[in-house]
Amino acid sequence: MTDRVAVVGAGQMGNGIAHVFAQSGFNVVMIDVSQDALDKGRATVAKNIERQVKKGIIPPEQQVEILSRIDLNMDLDAAGEASLIIEAASEDSGLKYRIFTDLDRIAKPAAVLATNTSSIPITEIGRRTSRPDKVIGMHFMNPVPVMKLVEIIRGLATSDKTTKYVTDIATRLGKTPVEVNDYPGFVSNRVLMPMINEAVYCLMEGVGEAAAIDQVMTLGMNHPMGPLALADLIGLDTCLAILQVLQEGLGDPKYRPCPLLKKYVAAGWLGRKSGRGFYTYSQ
Ligand code: NAD
Repeated sequence: MTDRVAVVGAGQMGNGIAHVFAQSGFNVVMIDVSQDALDKGRATVAKNIERQVKKGIIPPEQQVEILSRIDLNMDLDAAGEASLIIEAASEDSGLKYRIFTDLDRIAKPAAVLATNTSSIPITEIGRRTSRPDKVIGMHFMNPVPVMKLVEIIRGLATSDKTTKYVTDIATRLGKTPVEVNDYPGFVSNRVLMPMINEAVYCLMEGVGEAAAIDQVMTLGMNHPMGPLALADLIGLDTCLAILQVLQEGLGDPKYRPCPLLKKYVAAGWLGRKSGRGFYTYSQ
């Protein structure tokens, strides 16, 4: 049984992943290159646990205990004790390859190395290690404490044993694992991102205002959020990075990122996390 896990990256996904593991009784070390990200990550977990207490999801007496199960560290070596490591750093293939090469050296030989990547091929990541059979995608959805799905992505070399191991852990977290194979964008973003991209084209071409485009999809298609609001939640830099992986990996021009999306990212308008995207947000 795994009781010590490491989460690499303390951004919106990393802190959510640390939260659900701590809530399920695991001891977690959350690692980031930025102290500010670690502090903000812990503050977000504390706020979200408080919300769960108010909603009656967590008994009040467990609030302090859950938070105390999460240690913070700026050194990747802190992952050395973990049996399971989940990488949730920025969506940049070069960065992830470097992290996995380092983790392969740092982690215990039996440790499983999972990635929360939205689109970068698991097979490519696994190749950067000496244990591709123990490398797998564990793709949580945002916001992690709320969303039920964990998309489990097998690379070409991922073993049945590793797949069963992370599937069982996802179930222990109260999530529903769904197994898919390793193609660019997997299933979730192969289907979602072209829709978001098309919504940005609609905005760029003046087919409708942002609110109108989103309302058509919420009221007309019964989506809980419109595609532009969802893109702001995901992060426009992350959406652009995923579309670039789809375009390059599948070689089909239909995945070409909308120029307006590129322009927003170039301006630093990244959505909620920067306070401005297709909508503006008070921090
Ligand atoms: P984010 O920008 O909120 O956080 C990324 C964090 O990674 C930052 O805190 C940054 O300091 C940290 N980081 C960068 N380099 C690092 C390194 N070398 N070591 C440790 N930490 C490092 O991004 P996010 O939205 O949390 O996304 C993280 C991952 O999760 C990405 O792969 C993304 O594609 C994936 N993902 C995102 C969503 C979403 O809705 N945002 C959903 C599912 C999966």
